[in-house]
Amino acid sequence: VTSHYLSLADPRDPSDPVLAQCLPSAEEERRLGEGDDDPLDEAGQSPVPRLVHRYPDRVLLLATGRCFVHCRHCNRRRFWRDPPPPIGPAEMEAVAGYLGATPGVREVIVSGGDPLTLTDGELDRILGGLRALPGIEAVRIHTRAPVVQPARVTRSLQRVLRRHRPIWVNTQFNHPREVSPAAAEACGRILDAGCPLGNQTVLLRGVNDDPALIRDLLRGLQRIGVRPYYLFLCDQVRGAGHFRTGLGEALAIMESLRGNLPGLAIPHLAVDTPGGGGKVVLLPEALLSYDGGRAVLRNHRGRIFTLVDPADPSPGAAEPVASSS
Ligand code: SF4
Repeated sequence: VTSHYLSLADPRDPSDPVLAQCLPSAEEERRLGEGDDDPLDEAGQSPVPRLVHRYPDRVLLLATGRCFVHCRHCNRRRFWRDPPPPIGPAEMEAVAGYLGATPGVREVIVSGGDPLTLTDGELDRILGGLRALPGIEAVRIHTRAPVVQPARVTRSLQRVLRRHRPIWVNTQFNHPREVSPAAAEACGRILDAGCPLGNQTVLLRGVNDDPALIRDLLRGLQRIGVRPYYLFLCDQVRGAGHFRTGLGEALAIMESLRGNLPGLAIPHLAVDTPGGGGKVVLLPEALLSYDGGRAVLRNHRGRIFTLVDPADPSPGAAEPVASSS
């Protein structure tokens, strides 16, 4: 755990949301029978070492197994005991060979571990290698550094990011307290380097499973220029069963956001299907029925509207027909 991340915690609070994310709990041992070590079957979808190829147009590059903090809910906990070292030139060459021979892949997500634990030189080499591949149009970095080690976002890192633009960066703020002044400054530096910044929150029981708290978090992110991208259900990883929330609770949280936050600050609710089936986006029930070209819709206040489908026009589009309780 970094000293910055620990400084956000209240050590007197036994249910502190920061400590819950970074200190082991007896619950992990108690529920070891639940879930899988590799819940998304990344090993089974790895055509060459370090690469996960699940979707036709993009791949995930596991650039290192090291992290600044071992997040207790992490779906790659399997790396902790013996973390893969930073990817070397031979492995990068095999990755480049696979990408060169696999048309259709246009994006690489550089993940880990946390790729910002790499040195600027290592990162420069990796990003440069990816940028040199003719079919690769977009590169994304997934890192928790702005949250847990904001000092890592230095001027020198800015220069590396700027050199290889366009680079998209996604981070993981899970609690409003994590939106600290230092984190805001780190995010500002990434934005100044010309990299759009998104956020993937993990919904965690006892940490952030509360509609008002999620609203505060999303407002905080908007304030510092970070676009909320996904709100993920916690994966079925072994040792993290106590963090998992119900689907209904997650949908209720999403429902509470609509109408209370601008669309730009509302993430997609998504779940990574077990066994490597990919992401599924979950939507609160807004389309109640569809019949004869008429859609019955429910808005954020529970009011019911009919909307005439332009494919089957008839009078009465978007008229309120009833109010629900
Ligand atoms: S930073 Fe990411 S990869 Fe590392 S432990 Fe946290 S969630 Fe897992």
